[in-house]
Amino acid sequence: MVLTIKTDSPYQVVIENGVLDRVGKIAAKNKRPGAKAMVVSETNVFPLYGERLKTSLAAAGFEVFAFVFPAGEPSKQISTVCEIYRALAENGFTRSDFIVTLGGGVTGDMGGFAAATFLRGISFLQVPTTLLAQVDASVGGKTGVDLPFGKNLVGAFHQPMAVAADPQTLTTLSERYFRDGMGEVIKYACISDRDLFQKLESGTALENLEELTGRCVACKKTFVEEDTRDTGSRMILNFGHTFGHALEKLHGFQGISHGEAVGIGMILAAQAGERMGVTAPGTTEKLRGVLEKYRLPTEDGFSHEEIIRATALDKKTMGDTLNFILLEEIGKSRICPIPLEKLPSLLP
Ligand code: MG
Repeated sequence: MVLTIKTDSPYQVVIENGVLDRVGKIAAKNKRPGAKAMVVSETNVFPLYGERLKTSLAAAGFEVFAFVFPAGEPSKQISTVCEIYRALAENGFTRSDFIVTLGGGVTGDMGGFAAATFLRGISFLQVPTTLLAQVDASVGGKTGVDLPFGKNLVGAFHQPMAVAADPQTLTTLSERYFRDGMGEVIKYACISDRDLFQKLESGTALENLEELTGRCVACKKTFVEEDTRDTGSRMILNFGHTFGHALEKLHGFQGISHGEAVGIGMILAAQAGERMGVTAPGTTEKLRGVLEKYRLPTEDGFSHEEIIRATALDKKTMGDTLNFILLEEIGKSRICPIPLEKLPSLLP
């Protein structure tokens, strides 16, 4: 399946089993033979897929280099980006050359940020290997790193020249990482794909991972094309994320995955929506059923009061009003601006 994301410079998202071995050919549509390719990857993923990717790039005539950093969120910081810059500079990378990110969200965000900033911007190609990165993080052009005082505080919008998502790489994911991605999959179903939600309910959604990923990317594509720089309708993609981010923060970003936090955040948002009369009655229970089916948590030890206090500090808060994403029903969502002082009444 191939989807074209029509941003300023349109790019293709290729979702196919085995596409890992065709990344060189995909890159050759944008880059000349002889160009340099820096594979940016981490210590868990590179040993599994690094050689295949390098072989594919070399076969297409590229001069291939690799930068491999220690796996994990703690690596997602400026100092690692500086090491990527050093590898690029020492090997004489110019604007004709490019980066290929191979891995999950950390790799794509950070390698993309290095690409966005080195020489004021070079091309990059995303090869996401986790469900979360394939359905969500690799598309949309958000790149960045964490700072000691907050996640994703520094970054840039920089669209990749292509995305090559190979569902076969998901077979090596641990169950926990797979569930992490399912949190975002369920989110996409809730905000705009009722049919996918039904497939999730019936348990047939995982039978075809190409289709599953393609549906999520198709959903993200509509919002990214409408609102590339995330100032309007793209906010819909934050369904479940307002309270989800608050929970991640309360947990110190440990012991709860992004997908788990978003799952609980979606339940809280659905409850609030039902209470406000925006969300159809019974939606929360349907959502709870699907989260449980994919073994995602639906509640957490922190009190509503604590969650609301942490929410009020969220970076997506603008002034005194919070742009809260609510479902009207499964598959239909909207942005509801809510004054901050009304937050406590949403989660009594
Ligand atoms: Mg997310």
